[in-house]
Amino acid sequence: MSFTFCPRCASPLAEREFAEDGGPMQRRACPDTACGFVQYENPTPAVGVLIEHEGSMVLFRGAGWPEGFFALVTGYLEKNEEPLKAVAREVKEETNLDVVETEIIGNYIFERKNEVMLCYFAKCVGEIRLSPELADYKRYAPHELRPWPRATGFAVADWMRSRGLEVEFIERPPIQVTPRTS
Ligand SMILES: [Zn+2]
Repeated sequence: MSFTFCPRCASPLAEREFAEDGGPMQRRACPDTACGFVQYENPTPAVGVLIEHEGSMVLFRGAGWPEGFFALVTGYLEKNEEPLKAVAREVKEETNLDVVETEIIGNYIFERKNEVMLCYFAKCVGEIRLSPELADYKRYAPHELRPWPRATGFAVADWMRSRGLEVEFIERPPIQVTPRTS
């Protein structure tokens, strides 16, 4: 949530420098010192899942994404939800697959959406049935994956390197930003 006006007293927020242990930080804050509201803009965590199914890697195209753009299954965590539970839940909800094995790939900053992506590799079984959020999917041999230079793409690249594969990034059109609904 990013505010222009103070959510406590409705004054217009102003940029101010704050001394922090790690050095000065610019933050938006309420000019009324009696109010004291500071906008921290802490990032939202989300999970990203690189799926292996029936011997191939599977990437998915979100509804409304440009043609040819395939990426990981992603989703937000529910309150108090373990990341691995969120991985299994999101994969089931979006693809109908069951996660049988997971491996953490790493955590990646997604600046445009102010998110931290907790990225996992997941071996999955079952039959793919896409939710309305997804338009299509595509199977790849591991060496055919071409990561994109953004959060979940860096996860794909690190997973490929962990398997000793050559990494070749591609540039892609920006994804249309869809407002967060949950
Ligand atoms: Zn205020």
